[in-house]
Amino acid sequence: MDCLFCKIIAGEIPSSKVYEDEWVYAFRDIAPQAPVHILIVPKAHIASADDIYAENASFVTHIFEAIPEIAKSEGLENGYRIVSNVGSDACQSVKHLHFHILGGKQLTDTMA
Ligand code: AMP
Repeated sequence: MDCLFCKIIAGEIPSSKVYEDEWVYAFRDIAPQAPVHILIVPKAHIASADDIYAENASFVTHIFEAIPEIAKSEGLENGYRIVSNVGSDACQSVKHLHFHILGGKQLTDTMA
């Protein structure tokens, strides 16, 4: 499958890893939009949040278990934002489910 994030998970494309376990992989966004901008992805190919079902939902559970650990290790004790773009209206550019973790500064109070 020609998926950028599957290739990153497989180590075929380099990335700046911040966290990995059996279920999830997290790495720094190549074009950061905040002082801390991390992407966390499931190790299974799930195209977007539109494709989460009972059979693969445990990947998402593991993502949300890992996020607070990553936030703590990145020093985001004042808070952070989690974003997942779905489809063209939301400008999803990589068709592999991912959650942006953004923080390290006062974020804006608008999201769209
Ligand atoms: P989205 O637009 O929500 O699909 O987010 C995709 C994100 O992937 C963007 O923020 C990109 O900057 C990021 N990205 C694209 N290629 C890479 C890469 N090779 N390594 C790390 N982040 C990437």
